[in-house]
Amino acid sequence: MADAAIEVRALRKSYGDVEAVKGIDLTVRVGEVFALLGPNGAGKTTTVEILEGFRDRSGGEARVLGQDPATRDRRLRARIGIVLQSTGIDPYLTVAETIDLFRSYYATPRPVDEVIELVGLTEKRDTRVLKLSGGQQRRLDVGIALAGDPELLFLDEPTTGFDPSARRNAWGVVKNLAELGKTILLTTHYMDEAQVLADRVAVISAGVIVAEGDPASLGGRDTAATLVRFRLPPGQGDVPPSLAEGVSTDDGRVELRTTDPTRTLYELTRWAVERGVVLEGLDVTRPTLEDVYLELTGGEAGHEG
Ligand code: ATP
Repeated sequence: MADAAIEVRALRKSYGDVEAVKGIDLTVRVGEVFALLGPNGAGKTTTVEILEGFRDRSGGEARVLGQDPATRDRRLRARIGIVLQSTGIDPYLTVAETIDLFRSYYATPRPVDEVIELVGLTEKRDTRVLKLSGGQQRRLDVGIALAGDPELLFLDEPTTGFDPSARRNAWGVVKNLAELGKTILLTTHYMDEAQVLADRVAVISAGVIVAEGDPASLGGRDTAATLVRFRLPPGQGDVPPSLAEGVSTDDGRVELRTTDPTRTLYELTRWAVERGVVLEGLDVTRPTLEDVYLELTGGEAGHEG
């Protein structure tokens, strides 16, 4: 596939008796933001590290920008960006000096101030690394990965441990990179992160991909039943017969499941208005990405609200 940045077929990885990755197929297209979503121990980091060339696979095929990452070819290494932890950075260098140092390892680096702006550290340009907050240091880690102007960037749990505003900032950085046409493979535990950032998501659980698609339709979310809930005061009669399918009632509390919410709500509210019935606590919800995720990964699924 000419426009694939990453292609993985039947990828397997065992650590002794532990089968961490059990036959994964994956295609990440050029220019796409792709999220690997899954619980602890699902095999996300293992998969990413194989693609980065840090780990050997036990089986299957992998191609990164057309090359086998297991060869650890320096030309491939120069085309990918990997975010490592800040350990190893000289704490007495400034932000700009740090980026400049890493730029010197590459043939065609990105200008220092462009990198600094991309990761939102312009105001900290001349601040020493030791004076950066944890979140700012993580952004510098991303900046280091961008110094060589990579085509493909790996972000392993880019916002774990961030406060809400630092997360928003990090999302802004990823969006900036996506706008530049970079291909990004990120791993995350966070449904909202996948939803905001990713063009496509693969949910991985116990070493296998259990669902893949765009976040809006993942696991059939777009066609899944909408839940309509309300309470009927005593003596108000039953809901219209046309809606009786998919209704469950419990002590005046009514739950309706429908794949045609427009029509259902129209019929329901018309019926109520005509009879002067108040639908107390009327509430309409769709399954969230989190509901789908929990269902796919074996957790408790339920509706929001
Ligand atoms: P997390 O979200 O917790 O980072 P993950 O999805 O990245 O999890 P991996 O780190 O890939 O999961 O781990 C997958 C499985 O492989 C786990 O059962 C883990 O214990 C095991 N594992 C990972 N690295 C090693 C290792 N070096 N030696 C032995 N087992 C390992």
